[in-house]
Amino acid sequence: MNIDQLYREVILDHASNPRNKLFNQDVKDYKQKRGYNPSCGDDIVIFIKFNNNQIEDIIHHAQGCSISVAATSICSVALKGIDINLAKTKIENYLNMVQGNNYDNSLFSRDELAFSGIKNFPARVKCASLAWKTVLELINEL
Ligand code: ZN
Repeated sequence: MNIDQLYREVILDHASNPRNKLFNQDVKDYKQKRGYNPSCGDDIVIFIKFNNNQIEDIIHHAQGCSISVAATSICSVALKGIDINLAKTKIENYLNMVQGNNYDNSLFSRDELAFSGIKNFPARVKCASLAWKTVLELINEL
């Protein structure tokens, strides 16, 4: 399996089986924010429970194309349980990665790096960025 196939498998896996999905969890202690991508119709809501400077928990409700759902799932896994400042660094580097700019790949796991090829599909960059940008907006509102 080459790296492109591997990355495609990762994205399909997260799109068909998103992690940290909203079911019937009690989200009253969570801050929430909606993200919408009009060019594709991707519509997500991110729920984050902050504890001091940490993202203690992150849940999402994501509807849209498989790229956006997979990116939301992977974003939730990547940022759950980490410090807010590290989360900001990861988000900035992820956005650089999908836009084809320089980024620090040592920050990312294999699943997150699966989105490194999105830069070759400019129409999908917004789909891949939506969840990460929505989390950043939520953090910036703190
Ligand atoms: Zn999309």
